[in-house]
Amino acid sequence: MVKSAGGRAAPVGAYSIKTAPYAEYIALARQHGLLAECISQAEVQTALQAGFPAGEIVLNGPGKWWPRSTMPAMGLYALFCDSVEELTAVACNPALAKVVGARLKLPSISSRFGIPVDEPDTFNTLIQAVRSLAVGVEFGMHFHIASSAIGVARWWDAFESVLAWGLAIECASKRRVTVLDLGGGWHPEDFFRLDIDAVLRAAEGVLPHLRRVLFEPGKALTQPTMLLATHVLEVRRSKGRIEDAIVDACIAELPLANYYPHPIWLRTPDGEWHGLGRGRQQLYGRICMEEDRIGSNLALPETLAPGDILLIGDAGGYNRSMAYEFGRGK
Ligand SMILES: *Cc1c(COP(=O)(O)O)cnc(C)c1O
Repeated sequence: MVKSAGGRAAPVGAYSIKTAPYAEYIALARQHGLLAECISQAEVQTALQAGFPAGEIVLNGPGKWWPRSTMPAMGLYALFCDSVEELTAVACNPALAKVVGARLKLPSISSRFGIPVDEPDTFNTLIQAVRSLAVGVEFGMHFHIASSAIGVARWWDAFESVLAWGLAIECASKRRVTVLDLGGGWHPEDFFRLDIDAVLRAAEGVLPHLRRVLFEPGKALTQPTMLLATHVLEVRRSKGRIEDAIVDACIAELPLANYYPHPIWLRTPDGEWHGLGRGRQQLYGRICMEEDRIGSNLALPETLAPGDILLIGDAGGYNRSMAYEFGRGK
């Protein structure tokens, strides 16, 4: 963890386990000083087994006490409540986490998550719950809106209004916001281009007691780290020209195939990898579902033939962790 100079809030990274819950990834996150960000007790157990002390675990989401079969972990670093019901219940147990916070739901952006701060009754209950936090427990705020869905400019607008709501909560509750947790939803390139310093300056400008700003770059870290290899099964032509091709992968192995363009490389006869450009052909998957499209608007070379090998990039993150068994006869 980095402590920035001049008494300013320190940026801290947290690794979102669900995006790639693999031992080697979690070990790398730990080696590089990231916290573990979990959304269930099952993930907390995974983080503990990987060597994260409870004090380096952040717990988030609407189902964080699942499964109930395990005793909830105690002494976590931070826990961000998704509802006033949860915050009220958690506030009376100071052993759960060093930081207890609230995920805010802004009036301007529709989302199923977080506490709707513009509803007066809910806001009052939120303030009561924050006031009732034990003196030794810090208060934090969680903000999570996917910039990959709403765009980078609207993300900044939303971020600024979260800060303003944070100030309103500070004034009404007389408790300081010392931790701000910024959830994921960044495209890899948007995240690595994010001006972290500008985020910190904006946050400190409104919330002067901030000590830490957590960044949770889930898919931004893991999406680019995997490739999926597939064979061409059939090449279809019309009037002698290639129309599209069927491959032996399918959306069960690449569930986000149609959510963003994936880079694709074709292995040439001399063993080189040739990146496919944009064009008018499609790559379809092997299963009988209309939406089983693996790549769209590609320039497939006229020489493409059954047995050729393609590599599909950006296949990590939710492609791998949400992949499912389908059409395999079991
Ligand atoms: C899933 C999740 C992340 C990571 O989100 P991405 O969309 O993968 O970037 C971060 N924080 C929380 C609380 C999450 O649930």
